[in-house]
Amino acid sequence: MTRYVFITGGVVSSLGKGLTAASLGALLQSRGYTVRLRKLDPYLNVDPGTMSPFEHGEVFVTDDGAETDLDIGHYERFTGVAAKRSDCVSSGRIYSNVLEKERRGEFLGKTIQVIPHVTNEIKDFIRAGDGEVDFMLCEIGGTVGDIEGLPFFEAIRQFSREREPGCCIFLHVTLLPYIEACNELKTKPTQHSVKELRSIGISPDILVCRSERPIPQKERDKIALFCNVRGDSVISAPNLKSIYDAPITYHEEGLDDAVISAFGIKGAKAPRLSKWREVADRIKNAEGEVRIAVVGKYTGLEDAYKSIVEALTHGGIANKVKVNAKWIEAEIFEREDPTPWLDGSDAILIPGGFGERGSEGKIKAAGFARDRKIPFFGICLGMQMAVIEMARTLVGVDNAGSEEFDHESGNGAGTERRFEPVVYHLNKWMQGDRLIERKPDCERGASMRLGEYPALLAEGSRVAGIYGSGRISERHRHRYEVALEYRSRLESHGVVFSGMSPDGELPEIVEISGHPWFIGVQFHPELKSSPLNPHPLFSDFIRAAVQQARLI
Ligand code: GLN
Repeated sequence: MTRYVFITGGVVSSLGKGLTAASLGALLQSRGYTVRLRKLDPYLNVDPGTMSPFEHGEVFVTDDGAETDLDIGHYERFTGVAAKRSDCVSSGRIYSNVLEKERRGEFLGKTIQVIPHVTNEIKDFIRAGDGEVDFMLCEIGGTVGDIEGLPFFEAIRQFSREREPGCCIFLHVTLLPYIEACNELKTKPTQHSVKELRSIGISPDILVCRSERPIPQKERDKIALFCNVRGDSVISAPNLKSIYDAPITYHEEGLDDAVISAFGIKGAKAPRLSKWREVADRIKNAEGEVRIAVVGKYTGLEDAYKSIVEALTHGGIANKVKVNAKWIEAEIFEREDPTPWLDGSDAILIPGGFGERGSEGKIKAAGFARDRKIPFFGICLGMQMAVIEMARTLVGVDNAGSEEFDHESGNGAGTERRFEPVVYHLNKWMQGDRLIERKPDCERGASMRLGEYPALLAEGSRVAGIYGSGRISERHRHRYEVALEYRSRLESHGVVFSGMSPDGELPEIVEISGHPWFIGVQFHPELKSSPLNPHPLFSDFIRAAVQQARLI
């Protein structure tokens, strides 16, 4: 039997519900249970794929090519369970499914309503894969009381009623604000939030209370009494130095015990948390620090590069060092000499991105790293910019550029190009035995090469050594690709096309021989890194940075 934990939030947004869900997943796994985590997002976009990173943070891509919320990334990092398309849904997707069914006449002429048609669609989503795992953890995005969220709350209420008793619990994450004037943590917003939940028919079983300070017993008792939960189900969630302390802290605060007892499970195994303790210890007792310059476009908002930040941390965990990331707006290098900004960095990383803004700055940064022999990691757009730099400087293609920038400015199609397309628009490729084709007028959200694709690594290359394998599989999210046309000219200058798609058509990795560490990848390795299993490219990149730091 699959047991369901519904995770909701109250009082304010950004309380870290996703982290709570992910940590609970890790704790249940450490007791020998299998878990799956799901996110139900109330916004009306069909998926976050076309949302600006400033709006929604990073888009996290799954193996099966779904563009999802960054919380899915937390789920994967904490549990190691690869998420699927069926683990993430939005109101937009739900409504779009319902309306498609209506157009197909599947409702037999009935009037379509939120209850039951929309709520049924939501319940179908929750129910998919029932019986496959011990625990299904479903997080509802947003805050209780949001208009968009109501159908989701109604659906989980109905779902818990329809199931046999004892099979669903509700966990509510709230905030206890600290008021300095009276030196107290205030429980009233939590009481109101629970009242709001109960008015729509949901009584929380567990309250996870975020607070800046430890919660005194008096306040815990008060919350238990006023919110009608058991005393040991009021869980304190203090601010943490590292998010990877969360599983252990939550265990110490009694979260997994509270969940087990809310389900009435007897004789659960004790959790085995040694690996998480080891991670926490490596972070706390780091033996040095490396400085990584990250040259990007959305640097004002770290959430836009969430998985990069985490993967760098994982590389630090693998090397037992702290990673100090310095975020630099690429555009600055279009006006200023990069030297004072990049000098003193132990390594440089250019992450993925879209659009021309800042591209010339990124090209300069890649050139700086190549020239000064500073470890360099270019990811997706970062690799494309590095190849453009090398095509310009080494091969002499002065106007080398990406078709992306010509398309964006309306050049290219029929009109004059500004750039020689060293990076070109990909509209046909193989996915296994299947030919995928993109027509120029296809919907924006559906025009990318998305999800997991294999690559073959050149024998004796640096990346083959790092992966310890000749065949890899990594996640993609891009429309443009490095053109093979320039390969031999670049290779005569020491550039190695060390990873290729199995049909040999698409460059997946380029590296430079004779450089301490210069690797560009067309995929997103950061999406497959976790603290318990740091991605080999990030571990080795940080190792190279450590070495560089010692050389300086
Ligand atoms: N904009 C580039 C492309 O579409 C790179 C995308 C990315 O970095 N994810 O190919």
